[in-house]
Amino acid sequence: MKTENPFDLTVLGGGLAGSEAAWQAASRGLKVRLFEMRPEKTTGAHKTGHLAELVCSNSLGSALPDRATGLLKEELKRMNSLLARAAEKTSLPAGNALAVDRDLFAQEVETTLENHSNIHIIREEALAIPQDGPVIVATGPLTSERLSADIRAHTGEENLFFFDAIAPIITLDSINFEIAYRASRYGRGTSEEGDYINCPFTKDEYYAFVEALRGAERIELQGFESGIEQGVSAGKDSFFEGCLPVEVLAGRDPNALAFGPMRPVGLIDPRSGKRPFAVLQLRQDNLAGDLYNLVGFQTNLLYKEQERILRLIPGLENAQFVRFGQMHRNTYISAPGLINRDLQLISRPEVFFAGQLSGVEGYMGNIGTGLAAGMNAAALIRNEPLFEFPAETMLGSLLNYIAHAEQKHFQPMKANFGILPPLENPPRTKQDRAKEYARRSLERLDEALAGRGNTN
Ligand SMILES: Cc1cc2nc3c(=O)[nH]c(=O)nc-3n(C[C@H](O)[C@H](O)[C@H](O)COP(=O)(O)OP(=O)(O)OC[C@H]3O[C@@H](n4cnc5c(N)ncnc54)[C@H](O)[C@@H]3O)c2cc1C
Repeated sequence: MKTENPFDLTVLGGGLAGSEAAWQAASRGLKVRLFEMRPEKTTGAHKTGHLAELVCSNSLGSALPDRATGLLKEELKRMNSLLARAAEKTSLPAGNALAVDRDLFAQEVETTLENHSNIHIIREEALAIPQDGPVIVATGPLTSERLSADIRAHTGEENLFFFDAIAPIITLDSINFEIAYRASRYGRGTSEEGDYINCPFTKDEYYAFVEALRGAERIELQGFESGIEQGVSAGKDSFFEGCLPVEVLAGRDPNALAFGPMRPVGLIDPRSGKRPFAVLQLRQDNLAGDLYNLVGFQTNLLYKEQERILRLIPGLENAQFVRFGQMHRNTYISAPGLINRDLQLISRPEVFFAGQLSGVEGYMGNIGTGLAAGMNAAALIRNEPLFEFPAETMLGSLLNYIAHAEQKHFQPMKANFGILPPLENPPRTKQDRAKEYARRSLERLDEALAGRGNTN
């Protein structure tokens, strides 16, 4: 006998997008069941069973309102985003970045959802998109194999699999402060002594380090995945550029790291009074302040090689690793033509996609699509018009992009000013243009929210 589903909405995946989506729908009075497969079944990258666990960096992007992710965060806050609020509540000193204590952030979100009377959390793997009633699919870049197969059956498209990399974490007390020094780039930090720990390289030290990286043994990748390492076009374009493994960057060009994650600008060594040739930065990873991650140092080297080579970094001779870098699968649908800007599957509009799976990249963008899917699903269920996210907002532009980008070369998109409609009278400097984009976005959003009465 078929039992009736007592819930208004099903959300698959309790990550960034799914947690936000569940919260948005539940706060509009809907009964929501949220499926999360962890801790029973893991993804390979997540370390805990917590909802909304950050898998790699603990930074949610810029905290400045006139930067793309900072603007997106401000938009989300104005739309009552649970995760944007949790991020601010659990933030750590990190210069202009919004970095959080990853455990406190996840706990904050999880506790709020667990205590919500409209949300029922089911710790089980979803094997298929349910047939009964509206559903939001937000199982992320590491969606389980069985659900991936069902998604493929629904979308009629082959999911794309490729790889992404995460950075190692070390203990504070293993850093040699005879060499390493605290500083924020150009002194623009929140703490007086500097938010980052910096490991300075001389020219010789830098090139010796790059040589070691280039010659180091990597974890072997299989079949088509190995194309990524060789930098073939599909793989190369498929990486989040900000998450390229350091050995891949070093392999492309010996100077790439000095101009990329190890750029020394604005980081004068207080002992020499000079700018080092290159700098590795370490960013606080937990509230206790005893763990630091290697900024921009995603890697897929063998663990023993990471230990050997990263200890060549000046100041890290005795580094103790609590997590090594790794590479992981990434899954997303080819969104344009499959979903509309309301995140609905065109062939089955009661199915919404959100998060990385929908073709959006970056923590804040994934929270944003979760918010949009939660709001839209609630409106659909309540027979109300869906909220039209203004095209001038960062979230509205991301939604437009994934729905309308060219399908043939579609790649996941992160928040950036380039996807916003052009300004009517663009100011001359980049900084002023960014400010104007931000001002216009928030003005349009406030108008749209006021027109709707409120967001709830
Ligand atoms: C290794 C890695 C590193 C990344 N690093 C960064 C970074 O540093 N900065 C950044 O901005 N972005 C990063 N990203 C991209 C992206 O922002 C994050 O993955 C983000 O967490 C995606 O949000 P999401 O909600 O779509 O997925 P997730 O946060 O991964 O949430 C999906 C949830 O669904 C669950 N799940 C999966 N399948 C099922 C199933 N069948 N049934 C039930 N539950 C299921 C998972 O356990 C997970 O909890 C990274 C991605 C990967 C893979």
